[in-house]
Amino acid sequence: MQRITAAFTAALVVGGCSEGGPVTPATPSDSAGGTLPLLWALAQAGVTLQDGEGFEVTLSSRECAAQGNTFRVTSPTSSTLTTDGCREAIGTSWSFPGPYTAGTTVDFSLFSGFTNSPGMVRVSGSHPTWTVACEDGGDGDFNDLIFTVRATPNCNTGDPILDDPAVRQQLKNFLQQSGASNNNPAARREFGGYMYEDTNGKVDLRTRSDPQATPCSMSPGGPTPQPGEKVVGVFHTHPFSHRDPLPANCNRPPGAQYDNQARGGGSLADWNFIQTPYQGANLPMYIIDNDEVFRLDASTPPATRGSNPNRFQWNRPDCAW
Ligand SMILES: [Zn+2]
Repeated sequence: MQRITAAFTAALVVGGCSEGGPVTPATPSDSAGGTLPLLWALAQAGVTLQDGEGFEVTLSSRECAAQGNTFRVTSPTSSTLTTDGCREAIGTSWSFPGPYTAGTTVDFSLFSGFTNSPGMVRVSGSHPTWTVACEDGGDGDFNDLIFTVRATPNCNTGDPILDDPAVRQQLKNFLQQSGASNNNPAARREFGGYMYEDTNGKVDLRTRSDPQATPCSMSPGGPTPQPGEKVVGVFHTHPFSHRDPLPANCNRPPGAQYDNQARGGGSLADWNFIQTPYQGANLPMYIIDNDEVFRLDASTPPATRGSNPNRFQWNRPDCAW
């Protein structure tokens, strides 16, 4: 779980509810429900996730004063989000990236600091966004704490190397260093090297400086592992977006465009490069461009390279690295 504290605090909405009400145990008097449920965990949320999704919970508003309003996720994981909801910053969010399997339901519960009893929770909305409205027993208007729950897409690629946040950051940095957003495409340079895994399983990317590199080519040379390191991949940047015109120093025919579809993200030279084994094994090749990241496997037959399934839109808004 990752807690994200809001950078802002919205103005407190002043109203009725438990504002100024007693914080000692009081007789439950809820106009909406009458009798408060006996079970602590009462909220069957009706929040159902789709395959591979996670979820994010955000405190979107509150109108309460009780001390100790405690809001929890009870399923599919057990987690206390806040133990004093009435003083939690509006906009605070909690992230549960999962991934969870299809049909996973997310349940919530509220312990009311106002009545020292189970609070009441109502869920409305539908995939991918729901509202969880909480009533701590002060007045029954179900606005004491209001959370927004959002299903978050499966942003994993399924490749452990690419699902390592440190590797993602390195790839992004190298793409930037290769001038991928330089307004002068001729000044861009492919940039790349090898991926090294240490004895703890941590993968580090190290580049090789290639003075001969162009916007459309570079040579990574040979790998240079440190003692104990294993070479697990070779990588480079393609500092373009799909269909970008290629500059003259790419030495392509006039009018040539960058095409990351034709060969599944790699050039013929890229696919050829990985046909030569390194220490008895073929290395996968990782390529990042402005749209996608690709993994080229040497075993892919030429005829199916164009439909290479090992590609991921790292830049898409809902999954941006
Ligand atoms: Zn390439």
